[in-house]
Amino acid sequence: MDRTLFSEEHHAFREAFRTFAKREITPHQARWREAGQVDREVWRKAGAQGFLCPWIEEKYGGAGSDFLASTVIIEELARHYESGFAMALHSDVVVPYLHTFGTEEQKQRWLPGCCSGELVTAIGMTEPGAGSDLAAIQTTAVKDGDDYVINGSKTFISNGQLCDLVMLAAKTDPDPKNAHRGISLFVVEANRKGFVKGKRLHKMGMPSQDTSELFFEDCRVPASNLLGQPGAGFMMMMQKLQQERLTVAIAAVAGAEQVLADTMDYVKERHAFGKPISKFQNTQFKLVEALAKCQVGRAYIDQVVAGHVAGKELVTECSIAKFWTTDMAQEVIDECLQLFGGYGYMLEYPVTRAFMDARVQRIYAGTNEIMKVIVAKRLGL
Ligand SMILES: Cc1cc2nc3c(=O)[nH]c(=O)nc-3n(C[C@H](O)[C@H](O)[C@H](O)COP(=O)(O)OP(=O)(O)OC[C@H]3O[C@@H](n4cnc5c(N)ncnc54)[C@H](O)[C@@H]3O)c2cc1C
Repeated sequence: MDRTLFSEEHHAFREAFRTFAKREITPHQARWREAGQVDREVWRKAGAQGFLCPWIEEKYGGAGSDFLASTVIIEELARHYESGFAMALHSDVVVPYLHTFGTEEQKQRWLPGCCSGELVTAIGMTEPGAGSDLAAIQTTAVKDGDDYVINGSKTFISNGQLCDLVMLAAKTDPDPKNAHRGISLFVVEANRKGFVKGKRLHKMGMPSQDTSELFFEDCRVPASNLLGQPGAGFMMMMQKLQQERLTVAIAAVAGAEQVLADTMDYVKERHAFGKPISKFQNTQFKLVEALAKCQVGRAYIDQVVAGHVAGKELVTECSIAKFWTTDMAQEVIDECLQLFGGYGYMLEYPVTRAFMDARVQRIYAGTNEIMKVIVAKRLGL
């Protein structure tokens, strides 16, 4: 199917990123998986070439492009089976908070570093006792003179080891009656006293992603690190979650397409009973079904991305895209893995890793059940 989303500039941008990936990502992936994180240096290299926050205006150090440039990067990372280099989380989830809600002073302070790769960001919402139910977070930020003093812990935080800045959700009003209106967002620098990076968590997939626990023990930040108004955190998060969900859906479709393409090659090479396994009707039907799913997903996601770039409010569509494409990707990858036989169970095969990487897409950025809760609510059910 022809795609109409991208301009000539976006195609050129994709070619440039592919060249970058060939040189700076693919040769290092096995080592990153062993280390449990990507090299710090690759962030700076990506920044130097304009691949971080490409949508940000040039005056803040960005490339002055748009979310479609980010879409290109998300797709290419999925096509290169790189699940740990969390460029999308940084460029398209965390930094947009700074860009939309930051004061001019805050933007000048942080955005150039976010674009250059000097500053790697993370977002700390989830806690050991609260994930889906964000209003139930326990981390507190208490005003003390010109500062806030933060206490609490976060878990499952992507970029948890490498981050230099954390966008942190904390309660400035712990009164349960104000559960939603009591949450504020703070930008916390990693070198603040009382901010401790906990252990890197062992996960079933995304081995090169440094997902970690974070602890805040009487961590003092100046009031100038508060983002937006006190108590506006929940509202800001609701506004920004649409794009976060979209980034996951974009990765899911591109990842499923890549696994399908690689499986098509494999079944033509692998022989059983004197012929390529592509000649068995079961193989053909499974791959045709997978192609149909990918094409339906592709048509939907491209339309939602186009609407998002046009500035439409698409909460329902983004929520549907998130749960449908991630369920779809898991099904497609599972069927493809089956066609690899025993090799599909071996970690050296990309399809095996893709299977494990894909599982989390149904959980993070709001679980797929929560996506359905949102859509049902919007339907007035
Ligand atoms: C690899 C990884 C990376 C992550 N990165 C980050 C990050 O960078 N920053 C961050 O803040 N968080 C991050 N998360 C956390 C992630 O967003 C949460 O795990 C997710 O939102 C679910 O929260 P929970 O784990 O507390 O599950 P729970 O909220 O405890 O949910 C458990 C189950 O109950 C279901 N459930 C809950 N409420 C409802 C309901 N109302 N109706 C129906 N079913 C419901 C859920 O769908 C789920 O199946 C990450 C998680 C992982 C695994």
